[in-house]
Amino acid sequence: MVRVRFAPSPTGPLHIGGVRTALYNYFFAKKQGGKLILRIEDTDQTRFVEGAEKYIQESLKWSGIHFDEGPNIGGEFGPYRQSERKELYRQYADQLIEDGYAYYAFDTAEELKALREKEEAEGHKFQYDSKHRKDLNNSLTLSKEEVEKKIAAGENFTIRLLVPEDEEIVFTDIIRGEVKVHSSNMDDKIIFKSDGMPTYHLANIVDDHLMEITHVIRGEEWLPSAPLHILLYRYLGWDAPEFAHLPLLLKPDGKGKLSKRDGDRLGFPVFPMEWTDPQTNEISSGYKESGYFPEAFINMLAFLGWNPGDEREIMSMDEMTEAFSLDRVSKSGARFDADKAKWFNHEYLQKYPMEKLVSAFKELLKKENIEEVCDDYIEKVIKAIKDRADFVEDFIPHGLYFFKRPESYDEVAVKKHWRENSVTNIGLIAEEFEKCEEWKADILENIVKEQIEKHEMPGGKIFNGIRILLVGASSGPHLFDILEILGKEESLIRLKEGIANIGQE
Ligand code: GLU
Repeated sequence: MVRVRFAPSPTGPLHIGGVRTALYNYFFAKKQGGKLILRIEDTDQTRFVEGAEKYIQESLKWSGIHFDEGPNIGGEFGPYRQSERKELYRQYADQLIEDGYAYYAFDTAEELKALREKEEAEGHKFQYDSKHRKDLNNSLTLSKEEVEKKIAAGENFTIRLLVPEDEEIVFTDIIRGEVKVHSSNMDDKIIFKSDGMPTYHLANIVDDHLMEITHVIRGEEWLPSAPLHILLYRYLGWDAPEFAHLPLLLKPDGKGKLSKRDGDRLGFPVFPMEWTDPQTNEISSGYKESGYFPEAFINMLAFLGWNPGDEREIMSMDEMTEAFSLDRVSKSGARFDADKAKWFNHEYLQKYPMEKLVSAFKELLKKENIEEVCDDYIEKVIKAIKDRADFVEDFIPHGLYFFKRPESYDEVAVKKHWRENSVTNIGLIAEEFEKCEEWKADILENIVKEQIEKHEMPGGKIFNGIRILLVGASSGPHLFDILEILGKEESLIRLKEGIANIGQE
């Protein structure tokens, strides 16, 4: 039975890279008929951020990533919040000490800092490792009695993993293949802290084991920790799960990791939902509030680092699940592309259920004090303008004139397209329109073309002139569709009022 987990730390809002990790775990679990677990890794009390866990849970829910087990869901392997499992970890740290794989260290942060500075000043790198541990204040150098005395006296200590001195640590990553790290490049990581809490490394391994996780699918930033995790599994006598480290999400120019700060700086969100920093009140934008459909958002994210191996790009959650395999996840980083993100939303908008678009547009119109418009009319407008829109919000700039007569006329457009004879010419056309009994786009088009020919009018200027009177600018869909939707009465009012307003210029 495949069991995978998404294990965020509530140290801030969830970055879109995190959502992608959750998404790939979801695909993997569902495809194999396995289970997806949400585990909150909140052992680092110094980095706790108010509201972050709630934000993470809501973002995942909005994205449509559903979990089988987790803090608010339950499950046989709970609790799923590490702070609620606190009591559980110490015994494993003790077991490691007993078996000679870990040791107590009494060095204070100040002592270590002083040592680091001294070594660095001499041009050496300092880490708490096999080269240095012999000279430091720990249970490897102190006698058993001294250690017991210190502990009994309540002296602060950490527990560190005893990394072997000279060993090539090798494991296979599903995405990267064989990974080799020499233990001389590793430090004796703290696995248990002086505050009585395990560090990420110990808690993560203990929980993955107890929760019977079969595959660890996580971001590449955790690859350097993987050899340490392999050692922990070995020392605790457990089988390690399989590992798959996902490629980084890169900045649009490909230079470096897409960071939390990049988004609003570069003009696109890096968070699924808006986030207000509880300390500074600084607001970071989110995909949800920017008008993205969750379906478009996850489709876009899934394609950053994976593709189904065929031409398809627009895919539902179920289709992506069906097509997903870790073999098709790329090794190299995936560049974020803000235009492509919009493109995905644009595509989803074109196919979105009409009744939902109508009610969303109605809400927006209400804010413009436009109410009591019938659904049929709104639907016609949406059909005419939606191929120009990426978001529902774009319906207002692209379609407000269907509900509101122009109050002014774009000066540049008028200058470019309005001529002295526009008044007479468009006046003549308006007269013909009056006589028209079947107000249909193609019939109206014929009327205009006939008049242009008959009176040798300048075609381009006429089309644009009429458009300016109806829209207030030289933009919008096919002119005759605009006329048909507005209807005879409203169109004629706009033409007459407009001719009078712009006049001879
Ligand atoms: N708590 C870690 C994080 O915040 C989890 C890493 C892992 O999946 O092992 O990303």
